[in-house]
Amino acid sequence: MAGFREECGVVGVMADPEAARLIYLGLHALQHRGQEAAGIVTLNGGEEFTGHKAFGLVGDGFPTEIITKLEGSSGIGHNRYSTTGGSRLTQNIQPFTFNTALGNIAIAHNGNLTNAHLIRAELEAKGSIFQSTSDTEVFMHLLARSKKESVLERLVEVMGEVKGAYSLVILTKDRLYALRDPFGFRPLVYGRRGTAVVVASESCALGLLDADFEREINPGEIIEILPDGLVTSHHPFPHARKGFCSFEPVYFARPDSKVFGEEIYTLRKRMGEVLARETHVDADVVIAVPDSGIPMALGYANAAGIPLEIGLVRNPYVGRTFIEPSQSIRDFGVKLKLSPVGSVLRGKRVIVVDDSLVRGTTSMKILRMLRKAGAKEIHLRLGSPPITHSCYFGVDTPERSQLLAATNTVEEIRDFIGADTLGFLSREGLREALGKDKANNYCYGCFTGDYPEDTCREIKAQPTDAAGGPGLKAGF
Ligand code: SF4
Repeated sequence: MAGFREECGVVGVMADPEAARLIYLGLHALQHRGQEAAGIVTLNGGEEFTGHKAFGLVGDGFPTEIITKLEGSSGIGHNRYSTTGGSRLTQNIQPFTFNTALGNIAIAHNGNLTNAHLIRAELEAKGSIFQSTSDTEVFMHLLARSKKESVLERLVEVMGEVKGAYSLVILTKDRLYALRDPFGFRPLVYGRRGTAVVVASESCALGLLDADFEREINPGEIIEILPDGLVTSHHPFPHARKGFCSFEPVYFARPDSKVFGEEIYTLRKRMGEVLARETHVDADVVIAVPDSGIPMALGYANAAGIPLEIGLVRNPYVGRTFIEPSQSIRDFGVKLKLSPVGSVLRGKRVIVVDDSLVRGTTSMKILRMLRKAGAKEIHLRLGSPPITHSCYFGVDTPERSQLLAATNTVEEIRDFIGADTLGFLSREGLREALGKDKANNYCYGCFTGDYPEDTCREIKAQPTDAAGGPGLKAGF
């Protein structure tokens, strides 16, 4: 799948003498959520932060000599994928640090505030000066301007003002806070590593750090972690409609993670099973578009009683930049990442399972490659419904006009990508796979255009885009 991009990962550690190393490893485990830049900030007993930020992958930007300098037993880290704000500005790399009357504070954010532009305009009119173009800085300014006497009270006040998606880790001189917006769009979990407490976007980071999974931070909850590892929970907001991002189980989260209380691998397999039932076609073999399509393809093959084979091999060593030979090699970018296995495909009726379809151009190239490798028939199956709307909650989506399913019928899409047949998981099928009793807890905005209420009031007030949907925020 290509087109929807990851949307940042956060890590926080309290009460471990190797905080920086743990954060570094945690960011490694969350690398799939953002590869553009990473940052770590630690605190060593006093009140001053030490930090380092670098573009690119965590493993490239944080050599041992840097990690060694990041002393302290508490800290936070961030993997960035640019959702708002310019992508090549160092000042947009998190964590952000700032001074307040209550001392220095560092913050790392996964999500997107839907009313940030309105608050920012108000603050600028009152004289505030912004360093970055990130909406996270809006949160910082509100926190710094608050007259409340404790950081916790200020957090509650700011949570009452901002709208949209935020899973945050916040470090002060003597506390680590982790909080989630009242809809719970983005995941956030914490665990224990002896007396230390580790917070992370996904449970897969806890596994790498040998931290025992404790629980998710609830929507609208703030947890306050003391230097002795004591955790206190605060629930300042009344229960709201939940808005878990359904794209996390479809694509973003790692299959070995537990997110929104569910094993991602199990959910993806179930999506494949329902997809097989809904879009049956006679075929010889099922193959996956690796990596995210693999659990869905497995579920599909099991349910359809058709053998699963490895028909596409991913090259794990493709870097972010490479020298293109020339226009003469067709579909070069896709070929660099994926290779067809001729012996699986030649003369076969092939079902290809992928997680989703955004612009359709990558699918078209993959199908062309499979056809060239000898596939007799190609039946593309997608483990999620057609994507018809953009996201406003921290996922980097193309403009609506570039979403193939926003302006084309299934038959038109099939024709464009060159499949013999095309089938999507239905909306009801997605709800069934997520669990009928839990399906109402999710946001399906990019599949339906219905976003969790209240949160979307601000975005609906923005200008209409070319495709007739709500206007897109700058930076998308
Ligand atoms: S609109 Fe789509 S991508 Fe955005 S939060 Fe909702 S389900 Fe997730």
